[in-house]
Amino acid sequence: MTTPSTKPSSTTQRKVPCPHCGTLTVYSTDNPWRPFCSERCKSLDFGAWASESYRVQARPDAADIEAMEQELERSAQAPKQRH
Ligand SMILES: [Zn+2]
Repeated sequence: MTTPSTKPSSTTQRKVPCPHCGTLTVYSTDNPWRPFCSERCKSLDFGAWASESYRVQARPDAADIEAMEQELERSAQAPKQRH
């Protein structure tokens, strides 16, 4: 009895998770932004890395910025003290 090999050939493309978003992406010369999944992820990750190297402090969350803006708006719209 013969056992046919159903294994895929060893030439299958190696896939690695994108360091930025985790999407499995082909790690080959076909992918110019390997090991990232796309140019966007690559530039975003480099941007994050670059800003981290300049600023150790964490960037404020979008929610924080929104809250700040709301507070500014509120103080601007607040009725002035009557005398
Ligand atoms: Zn990605």
